[in-house]
Amino acid sequence: MSVTSHAVVHSKTMVARRWPYAALIGLGALTAAAFVSQPQGVGGLAFGVFGTTCTIAMAIGPVLRRAQPRRAWRYQTASAVCFLGATLVGAGAIPTSAGVLAQRDVWMVVAYLTLITCYVRLLLAHPGQGGRTMLLDGGIISGGVFLAFWSGLLASGLRGAELRASYGGVGSAAASAFFASCDGLMLMITFRLAYAVGRQVPAVTALLVAAGGRFITTTAFAAADHFDSTSLVAVLDVAIVATITAMVIATTHPSSVDLPGQARPTTERSPGRRSMLLLLLVVPAGAAIGFPVSGRYDALVRIVVLALILMLVYLRLATADDERDLADASALHRTRHDTLTELPNRTAFLADTAKTLEAADRDGGLWTLLLLDLDRFKHVNDTWGHSAGDELIRALGERLCRLVRAEDIVYRIGGDEFVILAQLPLGDQLSVIAQRVLSEIAQPVTLGSGQVFNVTASIGVSQAESPAATSAEELLRDADIALFTAKDRGRATWTLFDTSLRDRVTDRVRLAEDLNEAVPGGQIVAFYQPIRGAAGFDTLTGFEALARWHHPQRGLLCPTQFIPLAEDSGRIVEVGEAILRQACRDVARWRRMSGAELHVSVNVSAVQIARSDVAAAVAAALQDEGLPPCALWIEITESLLMQDKALALRTIESLSAVGVKICIDDFGTGYSSLGYLKDFPVDVVKVDRAFVAALTDDRRAITLTGAIIDMVHALGLDGVVAEGVERQDQADILTSLGCTWGQGFLWGRPIPADRTDALLAEEALPRLVPSDVPPADTRQTLTSGIARHLP
Ligand code: C2E
Ligand code: CA
Ligand code: CA
Repeated sequence: MSVTSHAVVHSKTMVARRWPYAALIGLGALTAAAFVSQPQGVGGLAFGVFGTTCTIAMAIGPVLRRAQPRRAWRYQTASAVCFLGATLVGAGAIPTSAGVLAQRDVWMVVAYLTLITCYVRLLLAHPGQGGRTMLLDGGIISGGVFLAFWSGLLASGLRGAELRASYGGVGSAAASAFFASCDGLMLMITFRLAYAVGRQVPAVTALLVAAGGRFITTTAFAAADHFDSTSLVAVLDVAIVATITAMVIATTHPSSVDLPGQARPTTERSPGRRSMLLLLLVVPAGAAIGFPVSGRYDALVRIVVLALILMLVYLRLATADDERDLADASALHRTRHDTLTELPNRTAFLADTAKTLEAADRDGGLWTLLLLDLDRFKHVNDTWGHSAGDELIRALGERLCRLVRAEDIVYRIGGDEFVILAQLPLGDQLSVIAQRVLSEIAQPVTLGSGQVFNVTASIGVSQAESPAATSAEELLRDADIALFTAKDRGRATWTLFDTSLRDRVTDRVRLAEDLNEAVPGGQIVAFYQPIRGAAGFDTLTGFEALARWHHPQRGLLCPTQFIPLAEDSGRIVEVGEAILRQACRDVARWRRMSGAELHVSVNVSAVQIARSDVAAAVAAALQDEGLPPCALWIEITESLLMQDKALALRTIESLSAVGVKICIDDFGTGYSSLGYLKDFPVDVVKVDRAFVAALTDDRRAITLTGAIIDMVHALGLDGVVAEGVERQDQADILTSLGCTWGQGFLWGRPIPADRTDALLAEEALPRLVPSDVPPADTRQTLTSGIARHLP
């Protein structure tokens, strides 16, 4: 895992942490300037101090950062120590007479060997990198560079190489050629790493600059004296300082903590790579043959190295190219990555988190998991199709990646679920971060088609207070519980896990499971609440069907306890249809029994509309009961009109075509304007009970309710139902405002179907009709309307 330190989100603290690097670069520039102008004076001293400090920083940087994989970075630390040794020998701080170890080049050779080991380990730590072929390629390249340098240096009389070494010519040439070939190899590995990481990661950029810088300076130093140019030497001094600076950044920057973990394997084949390699060989081979041989040793070395290279080339051509590697790599990639977003998946998340918790246990640190789930995403898929949904997920995944720091990883662990694991502070800052993520997600997303989506997300947060005792699965489960609670609190919010949440949630999860049995078991039943009309609301005109759940253990449950669960699981389609069927059956019976034109109101949820063909279900139910469509009112909440105008309009139009009455439920709670009413072909408006409750002590409630009633009349709609009427004074005001219907505890609570017949028996009922069969001409048009919606 590669997440450390404080804020997961780019914030002021991120900007603040850039200054040490800016200062370092500034200091490097000053040192270089001083050294170029006064190599023997102050500049020399400055260079010594700068170099020493940087080397120490490189040695301890990865240790402090706890960079992964640890082994690899330990080699880097060892190599920095050796470079420091070389620098001290060079500066005369360690006497050259102290034996072999005092030789600057010996320090350098060890430094290079350990550094190479670090790079190779970094590369191999991620098995998807095609390591075997990479190492063969690397061997060929470094062999080639070695040969070119060796032959060139010896042929040019070793003038460049002699500068750097105080011992014999052959040894000096060997050392120079060796350094150059190491630099070539490391440059190649860094290229490969940079390519694998794919996006801009500061540590990788710095590694590239460092490797490039080393290769250029090593090469140029060998040639500097040959060209005898002082200005070239000055440029090289600057390059050395820049290289050191880049190495410090590469090894201390937080984005270096887990480079292999950030790498994605390349799954595409690179057909040109083999021909490129062969072409590259021409140069060293030309050098080996072209430069005159200076002695027996020289000839022997050239032959041996050339033979080695040829052997590597043979092996390289003989391996079944990268195919197996690539197959392995892409198989591994597929198991760890999500194909839609290319983000690491649940498997990768669990593995990485387990590793992180294990390490955190040793090193301390509070790890925080943010589990993010998009709100009502199913609705997007259902309404706009899966390709729009996919595009949206991809866009939001990218947005999350941009939001977190370079060293943080975003995982997509499920359809619309993302997680981020990070070391985060507690308290207020955590809240600021969670809020920031929420508000970023809530920004509109424009898809390729030009469609604009506004989605929100909910976040569950869990923290591993004692990493030893926490497994990745537990951390995720806790975050899941917190997420569930966030959804329950109305979505678009975040919740931090605590143990009390668990009990409540397990309870709800069990209830959600029980719901699977509820409809088949006949446990979902309709209760009916009377709706009254005419002067003083003294006539019963119909009922609203309100769902109840006869839970085998828990008794009678209210819709608020299970409708949201049913909406989340999609069971609402079944629940809604069960209520629709019962309501149609009951209203048909009431009409038969009483001969009165009674109606029944059925609630339809937005999820149900999005996920099923409500108009077809309604048409089928009407036909099965032989009901005229005007006996059925369908209630759609005002919030649906606001959420998704297009879907609402389509639904209302097709329901109107069936002939049922359309009611806008909870009117006034969704902040919609009265103007909405003219945009939709609705028949009845149900004024929310909040207005009714306020009627007696808030003049504005009277004005508003009056305005709604007037508007409905002016538009020629059927009328207004006032909901939640509990007292006579409310009913009186509503009568004076010209309200058509009333519904509320004043006249009765919702009752089971078997008690409605008794209620009807004692009521004065509306105009009697000869039978429940509508007149022939209306029936004609009605049935044709219905027929269009039947399968
Ligand atoms: P709603 O559609 O606004 O239904 C009216 C709610 O107000 C009912 O609550 C009813 O019992 C309550 N109520 C009626 N008169 C009064 C009153 O005078 N005072 C007060 N304080 N409350 C009153 P209930 O039955 O608990 O239903 C709650 C909500 O659940 C409903 O609100 C509706 O949105 C939803 N619901 C109920 N049945 C169904 C269903 O079959 N399908 C769907 N999708 N939603 C349903
Ligand atoms: Ca309702
Ligand atoms: Ca309502």
